[in-house]
Amino acid sequence: MENKLTDFEIPSDLLDEIQNNIQDIIQSFDIPDANKTEVIKKINFMYTKTRQLSVTDALTKLYNRRHFESEFEKEFKRAKRYKNDLSIAIIDIDFFKKVNDTYGHLCGDYILKETAYLMAQNFRQTDTLFRYGGEEFVVLLTETSANNAPVPLERLRKKIENHKYIYDNHELKITVSIGVSSNIEFEICDKMLEDADKALYKAKNEGRNRVKSAEQ
Ligand code: GH3
Ligand code: MG
Ligand code: MG
Repeated sequence: MENKLTDFEIPSDLLDEIQNNIQDIIQSFDIPDANKTEVIKKINFMYTKTRQLSVTDALTKLYNRRHFESEFEKEFKRAKRYKNDLSIAIIDIDFFKKVNDTYGHLCGDYILKETAYLMAQNFRQTDTLFRYGGEEFVVLLTETSANNAPVPLERLRKKIENHKYIYDNHELKITVSIGVSSNIEFEICDKMLEDADKALYKAKNEGRNRVKSAEQ
């Protein structure tokens, strides 16, 4: 899946370095301290905004894929090291191409935003949501076992199925398919994501609008 142009491409560690250097440069200026403080304050504000943009998907305001890659690796390693539970789910909108083809791209964008909002309301604060690609989302469920993961996922599936999406006086029905893996025995986190993707594939094949676990 391609990154969109609206995503910032500056890695966060480089941003930190730039930020530190700029502060040092301003401190060395031959101007009153009060002015230095004012300039540094403004730069800190811009820095915070830029940092936030660098991890955010512009359309849905969820975390973007780049942020997902680093967060997932971190959580995967943490779960393995401390033997904690961890589940990962891929949520894919069913027949989304048809929405774009029938009602247009702007309607597709509305569905993405609305679905992101429903997702954000559905999970715990300790769970993290990302827009992985076009109409694919990922949620990291920390401290969540294979037995427990289907609970919030099934709740979300139902919530989306029953939600009234209204665009341009049309009521649209949307469903999602969800694949989940809770297996942290893999060597690398990519394999766990692949495991969830296989489960998603099964969910699609078995008729969509369902949650499927990799173990099933
Ligand atoms: P399936 O049920 O098998 O998942 O079918 P699908 O149509 O959802 O899957 P497919 O991968 O064929 O199509 C995904 C579509 O998502 C195609 C692309 O035009 C659309 N898409 C991707 N990103 C965006 C976006 O940012 N906005 C809009 N409106 N559409 C997008
Ligand atoms: Mg897809
Ligand atoms: Mg899809």
